[in-house]
Amino acid sequence: MSCPRVEIDLDKVGHNASTLVDRAGALGISVTGVTKAVLGLPPLASVLMASGVAALGDSRIENIETMRAAGLRGPMVLIRSPMPSQVGRVVDSGAISLGTDCDVMTLLAAAARHRGVEHGVVLMVELGDLREGIMPEQLGAAAAHVLSLGGLRLRGIGANLACRSGIAPDAGNMAELSACTERVEREHGVELDIVTGGNSANLLWAFSGADRGRVNNLRLGESILLGCEPLQRQPIPGLHDDAIAVVAEVIESSRKPSRPWGRIAQSAFGVAEPVGDDRGPVWQTIFALGHQDTDPAGLEPPGCVRIVGASSDHLITETSCRFDAGTEMRFRPGYGAFMRAMTSHSVSTLLTGNR
Ligand SMILES: *Cc1c(COP(=O)(O)O)cnc(C)c1O
Repeated sequence: MSCPRVEIDLDKVGHNASTLVDRAGALGISVTGVTKAVLGLPPLASVLMASGVAALGDSRIENIETMRAAGLRGPMVLIRSPMPSQVGRVVDSGAISLGTDCDVMTLLAAAARHRGVEHGVVLMVELGDLREGIMPEQLGAAAAHVLSLGGLRLRGIGANLACRSGIAPDAGNMAELSACTERVEREHGVELDIVTGGNSANLLWAFSGADRGRVNNLRLGESILLGCEPLQRQPIPGLHDDAIAVVAEVIESSRKPSRPWGRIAQSAFGVAEPVGDDRGPVWQTIFALGHQDTDPAGLEPPGCVRIVGASSDHLITETSCRFDAGTEMRFRPGYGAFMRAMTSHSVSTLLTGNR
């Protein structure tokens, strides 16, 4: 079997998705299943739909096109503001998009009118994380802009936190999102059916018993795929946190000193690690896996393995014993390591499970 590879257990992902759909549903919150980490992989997207997600979300139009080409017809959301160079493709995909920039929305409207269709927009409001979104005091003007343009339909309001600055969703900022929604409805005489409160980082808030206000949707990726919540990276009870593994193969395993020798200058990635204590000889085992394949710092190795270094193509570990070259081992990736493995040309994807 080809190595390195990402193994995704679709049964476990499906269990995670349907569990979160049920728990959020009990609170009046629908789930948009986010596929960007798997590049819109159609079999996984199908599992999410079968698990009851209300829509599929992806940050890249290419991935949405991949899912459409595979025959997935359900509602989709482009969860990043469209590039002006791609507005035609965005409208053609039939996805709704998250709007953060009035010029982009003007271009989307023109593309939609040109095609004789309506494009749905959810306006994103900045609530403090300082990534995407319209400042709250400018939301009214942005809504007026969308409503004035033929070709667009204002579908709702949304926010995104905990991505750039780690600002946690809480009762305060979620209440502000509800207030923004009601202000736009009141000032413009519209009803907004989508209030999308955020990503997996919103789950602690949602499950805390807090008043959800107008929030009726969350966009979930990491929690479904990795079974953890991203604020403290704690496993979510009842979910599988081992649905995904990065599998790598041993290419060398030998007894070596624990301390390098010779004059120390820079290493492949800049300043070399400080030389540690001499711990005598160790079993040094090298896997054919490196920065080109994943984020080595984001891997959790099996118990008998300790990661001590990495370069482009070599993962250097110390192991409890010698392992034959050709031995495969499973590492558990964090979100960044998983995403990088999925986007690396040298890592294949293997789907397992009975779905
Ligand atoms: C990536 C992303 C999500 C999903 O985030 P997770 O932490 O994977 O749940 C939701 N919304 C937006 C705007 C995103 O960019």
